[in-house]
Amino acid sequence: STAHLGAALRAQFPALHQTVYDGRPLVYLDSAATSHKPLAVIEAVREFYERDNSNVHRGAHALSIRATNAYEAARDKLAAFVNAASRREIVFTRGATEAINLVAATWGEMNVRAGDEIVISEIDHHANIVPWQLLAQRAGATVRYARYDASTGGMDAEHMISLIGPRTKLVAFAHVSNVLGSIAPVHRLVAAARAAGAAVLIDGCQSVPHMPVDVQALGADFYVASGHKMCGPTGIGFLWGRLDVLETMPPYQSGGEMIDQVTLEGSTFASPPGRFEAGTPAIAQAVGLGAAVDYLAGLGMANVEAHEHDLARYLVERLSAVDGLALYGPPRGEARAALAAFSVAGVHANDLSTFIDQDGVAIRAGHHCTQPLHAALGISASARASLYVYSTRADVDALVESIVSTQRLFAQLGG
Ligand code: PMP
Repeated sequence: STAHLGAALRAQFPALHQTVYDGRPLVYLDSAATSHKPLAVIEAVREFYERDNSNVHRGAHALSIRATNAYEAARDKLAAFVNAASRREIVFTRGATEAINLVAATWGEMNVRAGDEIVISEIDHHANIVPWQLLAQRAGATVRYARYDASTGGMDAEHMISLIGPRTKLVAFAHVSNVLGSIAPVHRLVAAARAAGAAVLIDGCQSVPHMPVDVQALGADFYVASGHKMCGPTGIGFLWGRLDVLETMPPYQSGGEMIDQVTLEGSTFASPPGRFEAGTPAIAQAVGLGAAVDYLAGLGMANVEAHEHDLARYLVERLSAVDGLALYGPPRGEARAALAAFSVAGVHANDLSTFIDQDGVAIRAGHHCTQPLHAALGISASARASLYVYSTRADVDALVESIVSTQRLFAQLGG
């Protein structure tokens, strides 16, 4: 049952209980950018600072031991949450962006050579495009892009599969698109990459917070996500990597924590995950992310997925009924995440978001870090509404009402 989601858990999210401007209740529809935090997470971070605050892996004193245990417990929680084969497969990073940069700078430097190819897609977030472009430039390799497919409203998976060949070293794609809400056919893409001997990185930013994820079942080499989109703090995210792959990789940043022995002649490095966590990590943030994982696991990810599936259907149904509104992403009735990007005839996305903000409705407007996708769509910007565990049909109703009244206003102004 999903009766414990949506309205039933809003009391646990303090930020949702506020009015903006002249007393408009906040309708938060920007959870794909960042989610709000439940009290359990806020309290875990506060308690850490009030009680356990100390550096990790260093001091042999009570607080340091507690801080280390809490930090490492967060790693255990994440490993269980995504069904990693080992806790050592979870590397804490600043977020998904840093996790992808880590793979590009370490695995990429070691494995990608002149003439090699990296296959990605034009629908991806810049975080999963630019690091590969820079790596390709450094290595003399080529990035090949799978097309957007207007008929499915997602990435053209057949095109991606056709691009994968003997020169392909890496295939990287988003599990769920942050703009289209489309869901990648992971198993087919992973099978095609495997058949070509290529490694696979999956960007799980918009999937891990919203559905059960089993990294072993997905079969990739790397999986990345950001804590702040899954009820956790900013400044923390993770890279999951297959342990045998992580073990082959050189260090990313260097300094304290990531070493084995340091002499003036040179240094040897810690085994994963420590090798990739140089310096004092984001300890309180990791503890907060651990609490977020507990929170989501407590709700049940299958329940979260079912709740969002219902919301996605309602969102698409309501938006589709608005005159002059063009919805991007999978057609009505097809599977999609609980988010939708759209354009409204006669109202620029930036104006739309500014006007509905006056009604308390928070959405995002712009290219959502997907300029190539927007170029493929033939637009420079879109509006995006994105939902989460605490979202309700009433939020969608408020969105639609505000869009329609803004549309009317612009029609009157424009004549
Ligand atoms: N990939 C996708 C699909 C995303 O939605 C985002 C966040 N918008 C990112 C990567 C980057 O995440 P972060 O900025 O937290 O590193």
